[in-house]
Amino acid sequence: MKYIDLHTDALTKEGVRSVTAETLERGECFLQCFACFTPRGGLGDALSLCGKFDEMCALCGFRKVRRAADLGGGGIHALLTLEGGEALEGKAENLALLHRRGVRMMTLVWNFDNEIGTSHGTEESFGLTPFGQDAVERMGDLPMIVDVSHGSEKLFSDVAAWSKRTGIPFVASHSDARACFPHTRNLTDGQIRTLADCGGVVGLNFFDGFLSEDRSAEGQRAALMRHARHIVRTGGEDVLALGSDFDGIPENAYMRTAADMPRLFEDFGEIFPPRVVEKIAFRNASRLLRETLG
Ligand SMILES: [Zn+2]
Repeated sequence: MKYIDLHTDALTKEGVRSVTAETLERGECFLQCFACFTPRGGLGDALSLCGKFDEMCALCGFRKVRRAADLGGGGIHALLTLEGGEALEGKAENLALLHRRGVRMMTLVWNFDNEIGTSHGTEESFGLTPFGQDAVERMGDLPMIVDVSHGSEKLFSDVAAWSKRTGIPFVASHSDARACFPHTRNLTDGQIRTLADCGGVVGLNFFDGFLSEDRSAEGQRAALMRHARHIVRTGGEDVLALGSDFDGIPENAYMRTAADMPRLFEDFGEIFPPRVVEKIAFRNASRLLRETLG
């Protein structure tokens, strides 16, 4: 079954990777989002990863996606994203520069506060800064998809208010459900419903530390089913997508590489009708990309 994965850190992973041309092919991937991940790095580091993305696409024959019209046809599609808005170095004009280099989605913050806003686990804090508000407005215009994974609850609600005002959906590209496992990186039921109301999607994250205490293959399989079922029950069947976080996380005993994805869809088939499995794997993320990429 073809699928779309909203997040991998494969561009920055050293050594053996879970996401390669070979594993994507075996997993029947349609589109993989590749993040420029430069924690505490600057614009220069982000731009050099944009270059690395271009080289990888040329070498592996991936089809680069920059607009909705690029989503047709066969082969493996690749979409460039950025994880951590500190790469803007506090200058809004750098958004346009990164957009010209192909970046089409930005995770506003990583695991620390930056010029744009506040990270998860800092709930008493303020959300989007005035600079962050301006950056999000500009992202809507470019367009560049706004990603709230890693964000604080206040940052999430500030982005949701922008989304409701403009009608532009946003995403949590790699996050799980807090009702199933208590972690500040996971989404509350209210956040899942808000994302659904705004036409956004949640990318299911394969990090065992967000899923369950039981790190065994069977424990992780059961946990992924539990989180997926809960997100669909809470936000409806149009909200769930995939955000593996492969190569940004330690190996998951159940989902080790992109080549394991067909097994996930087989297991989803035990708890969801085929229509819903196809929505999770492909249709929900595809709709989101078509609506936002212009
Ligand atoms: Zn991340």
